[in-house]
Amino acid sequence: MKAQVLHKYDEPLTAANWVQHEDVPDAKISKPTDVLVKIGGAGVCRTDLHIIEGQWRSRMDDNGGLLPFIMGHENAGWIEEVGSAVEGLKKGDPVILHPRISSGVEIEHRRGHDMHGSGTFPGVSENGGYAEALVTSVRNVVALPKSLEPKAVAAYADAGLTAYHVAKRAAQVLLPGQYVVAIGAGGLGHIGIQCLKAMCAAEIIVVDKSELALGLAKESGADHLVKADGNEVEAVMQITKGKGAEAVIDFVGEKGSTKKGIDMTRAGGNYHIVGYGENIVVPALDLITGEKNIIGNLVGTWADLNELMSLADRGLVHLATVEYALKDADKALHDLNAGKVKGRAILIP
Ligand code: ZN
Repeated sequence: MKAQVLHKYDEPLTAANWVQHEDVPDAKISKPTDVLVKIGGAGVCRTDLHIIEGQWRSRMDDNGGLLPFIMGHENAGWIEEVGSAVEGLKKGDPVILHPRISSGVEIEHRRGHDMHGSGTFPGVSENGGYAEALVTSVRNVVALPKSLEPKAVAAYADAGLTAYHVAKRAAQVLLPGQYVVAIGAGGLGHIGIQCLKAMCAAEIIVVDKSELALGLAKESGADHLVKADGNEVEAVMQITKGKGAEAVIDFVGEKGSTKKGIDMTRAGGNYHIVGYGENIVVPALDLITGEKNIIGNLVGTWADLNELMSLADRGLVHLATVEYALKDADKALHDLNAGKVKGRAILIP
């Protein structure tokens, strides 16, 4: 089969060519619970640029995922073949794939928290979906409703799932009359805002430095827009009558957003961190006197992905995509790196 293969890291991200379109051995079923999926779309994620930079090198090497390597962790497509123990799936069924493959037998897996137990992550720890086909486990398959095409939803497998997971956790304790802040209305943020709009009645405040992103936030359902011009904490305080928001979701996590995010959080509130890049530095006394919670968020569960597909099926969340042929993966990655992709780049074999 054809795949896009990464042969060497490029720390400064300046090389003209990163991946090569070439013939690789066909993906094949080896376990009775395996499922072979014909890829219909593979999302191109900023994590892929970090892989090219070599940031994930040690993690990949730990798992034996040495170069050459096939990226692609946001995958959707059609069932091609199933292992002998797989029931209820047949060739041609459209599916989206939860990105973490686990045995299913650890207590974390049985509780649905596959991200917390051991497992692999195709496209990061082993070969992924920048290819014509991918082998996964029956545990990872989410059947797609008729209204949703694989290429239109592939990026929900990671980016959308992460945004849904945090929005759901925040929404579960948010009440009418309360406030939630989303810091950052980019790829994840604009999905998170739509999920919040669909799942809670709190007023949604969106903070971003880009007018373009604030426009997208407005279309996604934001009730209040705040330009991140240095005075965003004061602006949020004014909207929330001096108290702060019951929940803050930080999709940025760098360049000072963590301190500002915690400062915007009301006493007794939850500060959810999703983006990363800087350390969170907060005096213990401030956390104690404000009884504020800092909550980490990592991808999401299989159930979360099902729920997100229900929202998408009902038209309550929408993902903007730009399609590229698989053979043009290098262009998609370079366009992403240059900030030229409006929405999410999707590779189509
Ligand atoms: Zn991703």
